[in-house]
Amino acid sequence: MQITSVDFLITFRCNASCKHCGYRAGPSNHGYMKVDDAKKWLSTLASAHPLQSITIHGGEPLLFFPNYCLERILRYATELNIPKRGIITNGFWATDKETARRKLTKLKSCGLTNITFSVDGFHQEHIPIETVRICIEEAVALGFTKVGILSHYLISPKAENIYNKLTNQALAKIEDIDGIQIARYKTSLYGRAAETLAEFMEKDSKLPSGPCRLSYWLGSEIQNPKAIEIDFDGHVTLCPGICIGNLKTQPLTDVLRDYVPHKHPILSILARDGPMGLAKVVDDLKIYYDHRFVDECHLCYEMRRLLQRHFPLRLAPSSCYLPATSRQTMPIPFLSRCL
Ligand code: SF4
Repeated sequence: MQITSVDFLITFRCNASCKHCGYRAGPSNHGYMKVDDAKKWLSTLASAHPLQSITIHGGEPLLFFPNYCLERILRYATELNIPKRGIITNGFWATDKETARRKLTKLKSCGLTNITFSVDGFHQEHIPIETVRICIEEAVALGFTKVGILSHYLISPKAENIYNKLTNQALAKIEDIDGIQIARYKTSLYGRAAETLAEFMEKDSKLPSGPCRLSYWLGSEIQNPKAIEIDFDGHVTLCPGICIGNLKTQPLTDVLRDYVPHKHPILSILARDGPMGLAKVVDDLKIYYDHRFVDECHLCYEMRRLLQRHFPLRLAPSSCYLPATSRQTMPIPFLSRCL
């Protein structure tokens, strides 16, 4: 396994609890990455892999300021000459122009090169776009290498529904800013998205039979991933909730050296039969489930949720999964009318 890109999920705590969040981040989550852990993991990756980028997110990485953990990881990544050093933030912390500039200047002095703001109907249910605009303008003025906008769409960027309408309205309020790069993606139906959004989407009565294509930010094949995520609790994941090792019990070198998909109880099935293979396992265990799914990722998440207690070390962190015994439905009155 040759890793070119790593995501550090430094917390799953967040000021918001967006309906599409694959990690189910929110205000009631706890835990923060330790600086010594982060430095050890980064040093291992930089010494033995062609590491080109680190992206720090969560949860919201800028819940606290000053944030010594974030600052020291950025400084250390700079010392290690990792070319791209980024964060993804929802921008809630830009209470005014001066505050935004002060915080961004500090982060730039620590080595931040790339900053990405989440802007879409899901985030803007919690954070006014006017606040985020202040941040974006200041980031552009400070000359970061890249100021990105990450927007998630329900079903597809072209589909007509209330969330996509809200996303386009939010983007219309910032897209006149010169020097930003907007990336538009379809929301994957795992984590909180499966609990809150799938209910209102069209489902097929036939099981989706396509293969697993790892999430876009991990951008590769199960057989040979080029990117990994590491969370504050040491889980090394290839998709939210699919763990290939825990760095609190095993060195990163060993996890990466020993990675063989056909030995992993979940990835072996996904690589061979796609998410449909997980449904066969659930059938064999005689666990009842509703057979209607929106797409492959939705099927995959729901089957993993049912299997989580059978494979707690490989279907981790457990916070990515709603316990199999509960099915929570968040009230989305206007969404049901509009989809
Ligand atoms: S099929 Fe499963 S493992 Fe593959 S990208 Fe979708 S949710 Fe992730």
